[in-house]
Amino acid sequence: MGRIAEEYGTLVFNDHTMQELLPSATYKALSKTIKEGKPLDIEVANVVAHAMKEWAVANGATHYTHWFQPLSGITSEKHDAFLDPQADGRAIMKFSGKALIQGEPDASSFPSGGIRATFEARGYTAWDPTSYAFIKDEVLCIPTAFCSYTGEALDKKTPLLRSMEAVSAQACKVLSYFGQDVPRVTTTVGAEQEYFLIKEEDYEQRQDLILTGRTLFGAPPCKGQEMEEHYFGAIRPTVNNFMKELDEELWKLGVAAKTKHNEVAPCQHELAPMFTISNVAIDHNLLTMELMRTIASHYGLVCLQHEKPFEGINGSGKHNNWSIATDSENLLDPGKTPASNLRFLVFLAAVVQAVDDYQDLLRISVASAGNDHRLGANEAPPAVISIFLGDELGRVVDAIIAGKDDDGAEAVYMDLGVEVLPSFERDNTDRNRTSPFAFTGNKFEFRMPGSQVNLADANTILNTIVAKSLKCFCEAVEDAGDFEKAAFAWVRKTLIEHQRIIFNGDGYADEWLEEAERRGLLNLKSLVDAAPHMLDEKNVALFKEFGVLNEAENRSRYEVKLETYSKLINIEGQTMSHMTKRKIAPAVSAYAEQVADTINAKKAANPDLDPVADQKLLAKLNAGANEMSDALDALDEALAVAQGIDDALAMARSYHDGVLAAMDRLRVACDAMEGIVSTEAWPLPTYNKILFYC
Ligand code: ADP
Ligand code: MG
Repeated sequence: MGRIAEEYGTLVFNDHTMQELLPSATYKALSKTIKEGKPLDIEVANVVAHAMKEWAVANGATHYTHWFQPLSGITSEKHDAFLDPQADGRAIMKFSGKALIQGEPDASSFPSGGIRATFEARGYTAWDPTSYAFIKDEVLCIPTAFCSYTGEALDKKTPLLRSMEAVSAQACKVLSYFGQDVPRVTTTVGAEQEYFLIKEEDYEQRQDLILTGRTLFGAPPCKGQEMEEHYFGAIRPTVNNFMKELDEELWKLGVAAKTKHNEVAPCQHELAPMFTISNVAIDHNLLTMELMRTIASHYGLVCLQHEKPFEGINGSGKHNNWSIATDSENLLDPGKTPASNLRFLVFLAAVVQAVDDYQDLLRISVASAGNDHRLGANEAPPAVISIFLGDELGRVVDAIIAGKDDDGAEAVYMDLGVEVLPSFERDNTDRNRTSPFAFTGNKFEFRMPGSQVNLADANTILNTIVAKSLKCFCEAVEDAGDFEKAAFAWVRKTLIEHQRIIFNGDGYADEWLEEAERRGLLNLKSLVDAAPHMLDEKNVALFKEFGVLNEAENRSRYEVKLETYSKLINIEGQTMSHMTKRKIAPAVSAYAEQVADTINAKKAANPDLDPVADQKLLAKLNAGANEMSDALDALDEALAVAQGIDDALAMARSYHDGVLAAMDRLRVACDAMEGIVSTEAWPLPTYNKILFYC
């Protein structure tokens, strides 16, 4: 057996291990729970917990933890030893079914957007048996959902699981019209993760990177990414070693890391796993991000996962490849026969309607302080949502729309199977990299998420909005005499009504933004523009209709989003102010003094000399220092204003309009000084040094 096959999944309590270690009745009961999403019986849980513990201990584990995703989006864990001291002074290793299925972290220190004020303060974690337990650093990690005792979701996973249920129920109903009796439909996700690797020694000297994850200062490097030599280029040996270790550790954890390559920007790389069911894919993505950070340190490197670590250099995203499938079939696969084509067209039209009707929610799902720097900056799609279908599928859709009357439309439909769809080449569909939401052969690729984001939000929304349009479809065909005719009529009507969201051109072009405005598409440029739409009646109603978020849960997410945004920019502003006062301003003054000393020395040595160059430099340093000082005062003032605001939205606006603008001004002033102060006198590693190491 090859090494990968031998090591793959060795640290996972997966189906294979369960089958091997559980009594067959227990295995069957657990499998049923996993497949059907039913609650786990405590008797079964006791047996599973015992087997899990024996297995974990044999694999070196001493502790267990409920591994969950609070509203901060990052994973949380509290380790409990398997230890159970005995009366005779010895200890045994113990793990009960109760401890497996439910845990009680102290909920009070996680962001909750005020939900705890409304409900019960305590929270509990509950095992998500569809995501396997695994061992990380000698700890048995049990993927869990996190709820309040009154049942409100306090995490990212719970709504995701609910949305998967919602879309499954609607999709099964749709399939029943096609004569398919399917117990469950799952959504799948493949998350391509971009990241930067820089040297630890540079990182350590940059307080901005340490505290905020991005550089708040830094003049453009002499060389950027214009040579386009990094993309798919040979990988540095150190980075290669990092990638190898990362792959191996991920494989052991059952994460199917598949592709790795250099990205467009210097020091930027990407990892893509094989896709899997949504909740597992997201757990795996979070694990991947964590491992990237820890493994980098083994090589004297730091992994930057911020969306925009360097101004003027491409930022990092996380493409969310999404599809919907039965046990055996991808429902977004166009297929080869007219019948499956009609089914495909129904799912396609459902996605088109969903994305058009809920542009705002999709935009919100990727809105963050970091991603605001990236969207629309010519390296990522703009903030406007549109769908790319590609030439072939675009032609099909155009033909369906153009069919003048019902007869015409029907003729097109009859043609579809033989002529148009079967020639689909997956590779032909994905030449457009500028679209935020592209059909890529048998899945949609949502390209707006930032590299740091937890993809649960984006997928919760995708699943829910598609559930909604599938439901519309069911309602439309419910009483139809001729199902095929009614189904096709719905496809055509839906495509006509939502045609405006389809755009196959260059998403980075300015003309597109004008065109999008004419089409009435939303352009929510920043988080503060997008977030208020979370409370729009239609969105609140949607989440309620499918039991994904109740009003309080939705409201709490809105509060947390704004709060997090304000907190992050507050930290950035304060870091910038601090670094200017303590590092940059003193460095500029010291260098100015050095130049002044030179002028004096030259004059003392020869009174006839006219040190014009030094005088010019001194004048620039002096003017620059003055501007820095003014800009610094303005930033401190803007911070004080924002900090004094009570209302969450008004506060976030103030950080956006006031603090970010003041930060930009200060940055320009400081970066100008970086350009004229000597390398020796400049107190921070520059872009030239950080981005072009050997
Ligand atoms: P790109 O051309 O964007 O680099 P790839 O062809 O390498 O894309 O695939 C990107 C991701 O899409 C991978 O993670 C892959 O597993 C995932 N993917 C492929 N098929 C599906 C699917 N049916 N559902 C979800 N993700 C999928
Ligand atoms: Mg991609």
